[in-house]
Amino acid sequence: MDKIEHIGIAVKDLETSNLLFQRLLGTAHYKIEEVASEGVRTSFFKVGNQKIELLEALVAESPIAKFIAQRGEGIHHIAFSVKDIIAEVKRLSSEGFVVLNEKPMRGADNKWVVFLHPKGVNGVLVELCQDIPQAEVE
Ligand code: ZN
Repeated sequence: MDKIEHIGIAVKDLETSNLLFQRLLGTAHYKIEEVASEGVRTSFFKVGNQKIELLEALVAESPIAKFIAQRGEGIHHIAFSVKDIIAEVKRLSSEGFVVLNEKPMRGADNKWVVFLHPKGVNGVLVELCQDIPQAEVE
């Protein structure tokens, strides 16, 4: 794995939290993006070379809605950038980690993403992400 790419934070209301994190970080979010497949709306802030991703549920079945119902707002996942997501999935599977989606899905911010089950990672939901080359972005 390379660096920590971003930290995902589950929030109840994106507009309210955008203002809160703008006050915290001293900089405004640089994009808002819906990920329909996950039922979420996200916003991104730059912090040095890393990012903060705020996630708001759009529908009751969204994993973010379930997370907030169970645990309240807070840190939802840590994302690591990788160069070869398929190779990393193979490596982590062979290490005994439970991969939630073997086939990478299209996440926010032009990334292929795969999640590891938090049960095998001390309760931490881990996201792997790999940049989608510009040429493949529709
Ligand atoms: Zn994320």
